[in-house]
Amino acid sequence: MCCNGTAAAAATKAYPTLLSVILKRGCIVNFPLKFCYLRKMKWKSSILLCCVVGVLSLCLQSCTQSRQFSEQEEILIMNGDTASAMRVLMIDNLQDSLFLRKTAEEITGVGRTAVALRQLVARLKVTMDKEGGIGIAAPQVGISKRIFLFTRVSDSNAPVQTVINPRILSHSEETFNFERDGCLSVPNLRGTSVRYVWIDVEYTILDGTVKRERLYGDQRPNFDGVIFQHEFDHLNGILFFDREP
Ligand SMILES: [Zn+2]
Repeated sequence: MCCNGTAAAAATKAYPTLLSVILKRGCIVNFPLKFCYLRKMKWKSSILLCCVVGVLSLCLQSCTQSRQFSEQEEILIMNGDTASAMRVLMIDNLQDSLFLRKTAEEITGVGRTAVALRQLVARLKVTMDKEGGIGIAAPQVGISKRIFLFTRVSDSNAPVQTVINPRILSHSEETFNFERDGCLSVPNLRGTSVRYVWIDVEYTILDGTVKRERLYGDQRPNFDGVIFQHEFDHLNGILFFDREP
């Protein structure tokens, strides 16, 4: 609903200045005010009607803004149950490769009950296991959002870590060459990537808790920090061979 200048001017003649200010600010009560003016309703009834319409509009706006996924993304996430894998996008497919190069968006409202977000995490895990990976990022299954999973190879008992809206707060000055890097989206290719020795990271988990930790990368076979850096790159459209020495 957008501003209608004629209606605003007409209503301003009949209603107090405060209402005309509201009219100019949001237009939410534009239509009901015009309705009340034309129907010559009493001012108390008019204000009540405007308030009801205003509150309903704000609720609708709030619901729209807090949506975590686009309609298309929700369909993709919900088109299979939590035990079904998703299709992994491949760099040798033109459409897939363009998608993999996009910068993913932050996820809003993490921590509240969100069926689609939980379903995405479950399906990412199933997909990663099926493909034999140790990390997977949402863009790899067609969801351009800032979320990935990574396996703590330094601790075989640790559960797969869900990482939402991650940030690398700081990192070592020193880098090293990580050999035989690979990716579920890059078939039949292994290569060397340049990685930081350690990174300090911050991310949110499913319940909304914010975590901070230091991850190391140069202690193969324990290289949690490299997996994090690899998956973090996916959120910015970067693939491991972009990090060649
Ligand atoms: Zn990858």
